[in-house]
Amino acid sequence: MITSRRKLVLALDHRITQTRMNDQFNEPNVDHGPAMPDRRKFLVAGLGLAAAPLLTHVATGAPSAETGATVGKNPVSVRAYGATSAATPLGAMQIERRAIGANDVLLDVLYCGICHSDIHQARDEWATWNPTRYPCVPGHEFIGRVQAVGSAVTKFRVGDIGGVGCMVNSCGTCENCLADREQNCLKEATFTYNSPDPATGGHTFGGYSDKIVVPEHFVIRIPPGVDLAATAPLLCAGITTFSPMQHWKLARGQRVGVIGLGGLGHMAVKLAVARKADVTVFTTSPGKVADAQRLGAREAVLWSDAAAMKRLANQFDLLISTVPQAYPMQQFVNVLKLDATLVNVGAMEQFQGVNGIDLVLGRKSLAGSMIGGIAETQEVIDYCAARNIKAEIELIRPEEINRAYERVVSKDVRYRFVIDMASTKAAG
Ligand code: NAP
Ligand code: ZN
Repeated sequence: MITSRRKLVLALDHRITQTRMNDQFNEPNVDHGPAMPDRRKFLVAGLGLAAAPLLTHVATGAPSAETGATVGKNPVSVRAYGATSAATPLGAMQIERRAIGANDVLLDVLYCGICHSDIHQARDEWATWNPTRYPCVPGHEFIGRVQAVGSAVTKFRVGDIGGVGCMVNSCGTCENCLADREQNCLKEATFTYNSPDPATGGHTFGGYSDKIVVPEHFVIRIPPGVDLAATAPLLCAGITTFSPMQHWKLARGQRVGVIGLGGLGHMAVKLAVARKADVTVFTTSPGKVADAQRLGAREAVLWSDAAAMKRLANQFDLLISTVPQAYPMQQFVNVLKLDATLVNVGAMEQFQGVNGIDLVLGRKSLAGSMIGGIAETQEVIDYCAARNIKAEIELIRPEEINRAYERVVSKDVRYRFVIDMASTKAAG
């Protein structure tokens, strides 16, 4: 385990070498500061930085329309896009962002992906385990420009580019947070939207908005030169599919099946191909077969193709299921090899129709996985930047969000919608 002192030194090193591209596969995260407030305060005080003014404004990047001396100092009302009930379409609204604290970064959002989770949440489809608080402003894969930083921030300067995924805080002290598993925080992570927000007493609002204030630990460094709009989806779709490949150690030549070719599924294909795994897509959409192959899959099999499903029995080392709702899984258990695992990242409901005996006979596993920690999210961003891996996107304007939702639900996404927040600003 990396020591706290070493973490601080490395964090400062990152401040100096912000643009260095990290291509170290499996490199541990090096900055845990703001997620661990107590340790962070101690370390910062030890360096004599604690007395610095609350806000620092180091103009190194693109100019901001606002006055540097006031940006982020007070709560601000910002434009956002959200739903006021499960039945209403998303529309423009004003929300408040808190004044930035010592460890916070104010991001001017440029691009925000649309995840199917946004739709589940906006429409309260997860009411049984995660009821929606309204107004609901979704968005948990976005990239923006740093507009202001708190006095203790070491990871970013004004003008840098940062990204935010599904979490904006966690306790920082439980065993899971200390193990870089903030998403599994024992006190529950603060998710980017629909979580209780201790800072405001309300609930969190996501990235379908002009600006957001996030502790620096939860802001991911975006390497220079990447396609920002097509990199934004890596912050959810990318990490959610990368993490199980890491955990289950998907290796070169192993057979992996990706079930569902949407936002997560297409990233799973690209990430598995990058590892030189042997990829098969299981799709319900005949129109996606050619795309699957173009993305690097060996083949794409229709769920309804009984002969192919029979041919593939006992072939797969790993399956990643991205289907957004429960479905009968037995036919996929059948294609798992001995000891192999089907990792469900999509359906939050009960597993349907799985025969216990088939798991027993083949020592097969059904598992689940949720996004990834901050260190692993940084890792997938750096990994993809080094290999020019990005999402296939359709860039839309905010007025098109509701239409995009309909297309996602009808499986007609190719393969991620990204909201162009930057264009709305350019247009005033
Ligand atoms: P998406 O873009 O809509 O892709 C899902 C794909 O699954 C569809 O394109 C379709 O692919 C297939 N599909 C959809 N409905 C289906 C149905 N009724 N039966 C069979 N196949 C169906 O969604 P996404 O953004 O990738 O998200 C997928 C799921 O993962 C969502 O439920 C989301 O909430 C969840 N999620 C989980 C995590 C996590 O941490 N675990 C993170 C992000 C998202 P084909 O046309 O190829 O069949
Ligand atoms: Zn998501």
